[in-house]
Amino acid sequence: MSAGTTRRAGGPGIGAAAEGGGSRLFRELARMVVALADVEGLRSFALPYPGLAQRALDRTVMHCLDVGETPPRSLPELWEWCRTRPACDPLFAVSPALVAPGTTLVHPVGRMPTRSCLEVASHGPDGGVAAHARALLGDLEARCGTGERYRQCRRFLARHPVVHQRDRFGLDWSKAVWSRVKELYGPLPEYLLVDGVFLRCPSCELPALPRDRAVPVLGPSGTGADLWCEGEECPRDAPPELIREPDQTWILRRSLRTFLALPYRTEEAARNALDHAGIGHEALPGSLSAHRLKDTGPESVDIQVYDRLQPALLAAHLAEGAPPAHRTLVVVPAALAGRDGYREAFTGSLPAPLRGRSVLTTPVDLVSDLERGPKEEKDDA
Ligand SMILES: [Zn+2]
Repeated sequence: MSAGTTRRAGGPGIGAAAEGGGSRLFRELARMVVALADVEGLRSFALPYPGLAQRALDRTVMHCLDVGETPPRSLPELWEWCRTRPACDPLFAVSPALVAPGTTLVHPVGRMPTRSCLEVASHGPDGGVAAHARALLGDLEARCGTGERYRQCRRFLARHPVVHQRDRFGLDWSKAVWSRVKELYGPLPEYLLVDGVFLRCPSCELPALPRDRAVPVLGPSGTGADLWCEGEECPRDAPPELIREPDQTWILRRSLRTFLALPYRTEEAARNALDHAGIGHEALPGSLSAHRLKDTGPESVDIQVYDRLQPALLAAHLAEGAPPAHRTLVVVPAALAGRDGYREAFTGSLPAPLRGRSVLTTPVDLVSDLERGPKEEKDDA
């Protein structure tokens, strides 16, 4: 969203010209929210504020003066703005072609960064939070030495965003894998505990929190709208798992939870679909989740797997990559692809050279979309 960003031909809302000061502020606040959420004792917001937060507060005050709004008086008030003022608020006026209008940076129930916040914080030339996840995986790959070791470690991270001491006695525990990945985990932070208990969503297996950290959720009533989990989109038909020994529990870094663990189920479903159809594939190094298909004739075909709530930001991310030398099937969960306007927003935000070469699909449709070939896809776009 930087005004100085140069891109290849951008879709509506993605080119630098479409960005206003409010939109840039929205991204700066997204990065502030992500950074502050990792600081212990967040709720106190004691002075002096961390430098990044003070700069974001100063920028917000200046922007408010520019647009004739009363500025926030403190960091807690600014944090509350991030929870209650969505992307479409006149203060930000982020183009609806870039971020869905109702998007807030802090979740109204969980009071933690939203998934969209992490996606906004990953938008831009440096790749932000998602690039951080990619860099961590790149280091791990280098440490592993062999592709097979790296695959084992990556699978472990994706399947175990939270590790409990008792997991060490489980079937898929490997001492060698743990010794390579343990530095990507940390102790459970205080802000993820409710009365000393850690809540884990039974669906995405990521942290969960009840509204306002209220205790009643620890009973069977802990289902429904009053519960937040980091996956955000999970069904609420089962209560969260309670882990009562938080000091014996480790949690994966946030960037990897969101950009590796969350899409992993979709990635496994996509790979299973390819295997079932007898289509060979190999992982591409340096990516979060990209695979090149084998035996595709003179044309190279890649699949890339994502679980992103903001389709226009996903399109912008693809547009930032290397020139589209070959076809890419962009696999997302079926629940997202079927959402009103998701597909249209994705395709409409792709730069013209990528349309027809980058096609949105789901694990179920992957093989049939592959067989349809690029020409028909172009007709669809
Ligand atoms: Zn969940």
